[in-house]
Amino acid sequence: MTLQIQIFNTLTHKEEILKTIDPNHLKMYVCGPTVYDRPHLGNARSVVVYDLFFRLFRQVFSQVTYVRNITDVDDKINAAAKEQKISIQDLTKKITDFFHQDTDALNVLRPTYEPRATTHISEMVTMIEQLIKNKNAYVSKGHVLFDVGSYKNYGQLSNRNLDEMIAGARVEIADYKKNPLDFVLWKPSDAEDDISSVFESPWGKGRPGWHIECSAMSSKYLGADFDIHGGGADLQFPHHENEIAQSCCANSSSKYAHFWIHNGFLTVDGEKMSKSLKNFITVRDLLNKGVSGTVIRLLLLSTHYRKPFDFNQKALEDAQKSLEKFYSVLEPKDLVLTKPTAVNKKVLLDLADDLNISKAIATLHEMVKEVKVSDDENLKNEFVATLDFLGLIDENFFSKTDLQDDEELSFINEQIALRLKAKAEKNFQLADDIRRNMLAKGIVLEDVGKNETLWKRV
Ligand SMILES: [Zn+2]
Repeated sequence: MTLQIQIFNTLTHKEEILKTIDPNHLKMYVCGPTVYDRPHLGNARSVVVYDLFFRLFRQVFSQVTYVRNITDVDDKINAAAKEQKISIQDLTKKITDFFHQDTDALNVLRPTYEPRATTHISEMVTMIEQLIKNKNAYVSKGHVLFDVGSYKNYGQLSNRNLDEMIAGARVEIADYKKNPLDFVLWKPSDAEDDISSVFESPWGKGRPGWHIECSAMSSKYLGADFDIHGGGADLQFPHHENEIAQSCCANSSSKYAHFWIHNGFLTVDGEKMSKSLKNFITVRDLLNKGVSGTVIRLLLLSTHYRKPFDFNQKALEDAQKSLEKFYSVLEPKDLVLTKPTAVNKKVLLDLADDLNISKAIATLHEMVKEVKVSDDENLKNEFVATLDFLGLIDENFFSKTDLQDDEELSFINEQIALRLKAKAEKNFQLADDIRRNMLAKGIVLEDVGKNETLWKRV
C-alpha cells in the first residue's frame, strides 16, 4: 500500500520521509542481544519497538529484510560461563533459547536473519584486513585497533568532536593505543580462555572486538549500503559510531545505514534498572507472576519509542486495563479470522508518523466504541486484524482465571522451590510427587534449565 512513513533520523537529527534505496525492498539491521543473561525489560523494549517497525514496514513494502544479530562472543559471556561453571557453548545456547522463549511470549516475530557472531569470524577478519590495507587500522601488541584519527567524520552520529568524546566516555587508556578513542577490532586471547571463544587470525589466536561483528554481518546480509539501522540509545556512542567508521572506511563508497533509529532508556519507578539496586526485572519474572506477554508488550509500547519509559505498577495496571477494554467487545470465536482482512488505515497512519503509538492506541479505543454499538461483522474483523497486526492477540485471554491470586501464586512458587531442592538432593521420588500433585491442580511444571522451572495452566 502507499503510505508515507516519517521517522526521526538520529544521523540528521530530524524527522524525515523514509525513502528506501530500492523502492520495493526495505533493509533493516538492529543490534541484538549479547547472550549471557535472560532478557530484562530494557532489552525487551528494544525488541518490541523494532518488531512494531518491522510489522509496519511489511504493510508498506513488498519485501522487508530484517537482520538482528546474536552476540555470542564477548567478555561478559566468558565471565558468566566461568561463574556458572558451564561451557561458553552451553551458556550461549541456553540464553539464546531463553531469549526466543521470552520474546515469543511477547508476540515478537522472528527476524529474516539472526546471524551469530561466532559463525561470521571469517567475514570479520576479511573486513579487518581491508581496514589495515586502507591504513584505517594498525596492529599493536597482538591487538588490531581502529585508528579513529584516520576517519574525519568520526563523531557524526553522536554529534561530538574527538575531545568531547574522550571527556564524555569512559574510554580505556592502554599503552597499545595511539589515541585513547582507538577501539579494538581484534584482541589476543588469554591462556585460560575457553577454547570456543578462541579463533585463528592473521594476528594470532584471539577474538574480535564487539563493534566489528555488526559491520561485517550487516554488509553480508544487506550490502554495504542499506536503509535502517536500529538499537538502544545507549549504543549510539561508541558502538554505532564505531560501526559507521569501520564500514565507511572498509568500503569507501558506502554511506552505511541511511537512517538511524534509537529507542529510549527504561527506568523502574524512576530509577535506573540495575542488579545492585535490586530493581532488575526480566520478562520471565513478569510472566512467572502471571502477567500475560501481550500485556507486557502493550506496556512496553505504551510510551513513544524515543522517550524514556518508566516501568511501575500503575503503568502495568493501565496496560492490563487497556487490553481488557479491547477484549470486552470480543468473544473467543472472533479471534479467528476466516478471511483476509485489512488493518485499520487510521492506525497505520498513526504509526507512519514516527511510530506514534499513543495515537494508535487512542484509535483502538475509538474502534472499541464503534464495534460495541454496531452489528457489522466487517468492523469487528477489521478490529481483530488490527490487534493481530500490532501483535496484541492474546489467545489465552478468555481462558484465564484470576491470575492475580497472590495466595495461589505463592503456593505455586513454594512448590517449585521445594521440587528444585528435592532434585538438587537427588530425591527424585519427592520431585515427581510434587509435579504430579500440581498437575492434579491443573498446573504443569516445566523444567527449562537446571535451576529453573516454568509453570502454566493446563
Ligand atoms: Zn551492533
